[in-house]
Amino acid sequence: MRVLIIEDEIRLARNIKQVLTEELSYVVDISTDGEDGRHLALTNPYDLILLDLLLPKVDGLEILRTIRERGNSAPVLILTARGERQEIVRGLNLGSDDYMTKPFDMDELLARCRSLIRRSHGRPSSEIQVGSLHIDTRTHVVGVNGKKVVLPALEYRLLEYLAMRTGEIVSKTELMEHLYDFQSENFSNVIEVYISNLRRKLDPGPHYRLIHTIRGQGYLLGELPQ
Ligand code: CA
Repeated sequence: MRVLIIEDEIRLARNIKQVLTEELSYVVDISTDGEDGRHLALTNPYDLILLDLLLPKVDGLEILRTIRERGNSAPVLILTARGERQEIVRGLNLGSDDYMTKPFDMDELLARCRSLIRRSHGRPSSEIQVGSLHIDTRTHVVGVNGKKVVLPALEYRLLEYLAMRTGEIVSKTELMEHLYDFQSENFSNVIEVYISNLRRKLDPGPHYRLIHTIRGQGYLLGELPQ
């Protein structure tokens, strides 16, 4: 999952980024002014946007208005200072999905981020079951046929994204856009390596396969006969 933080308090932004990266394996971009943030939000397919309201150049509500007008439906969580009640209401009316008042508890922020992304994929529960594959997106525990499988963060990140979109073909470009940030070396053969590792580790038995390559289109997660 790829998240954009638009927040001019750089220490807070870095702090949130660190927690989202370490605890949830998300990829995070930071923008510290409204103009740049609006540009990033409009040009990248983020899974979640954390939006401060009082920002240099363009304020948060203006960014929200613009991205919703352009048809961008990424979940938006507003980060607000105390006493901005009216702004919160305006934000919700403009299409934000949730808000948190600073200073906030990081665990609560994490829970809300996870929940907003899940709900945007139509998944009310934090657990995903696909045939013999079970994923707990809260603890990152993965199991196949009841047997626990330990995955490195980068492989888990890829699996979780495919699982959120079970039954859909996900192109390699989409995977790169949602799983890597600007600093990453986003070579597409890295994805092939992760996919082949996942196939080896998540073996549903001799008759089925979980991750399918759709030639020329991408990958699909679903337990189907070999
Ligand atoms: Ca601010």
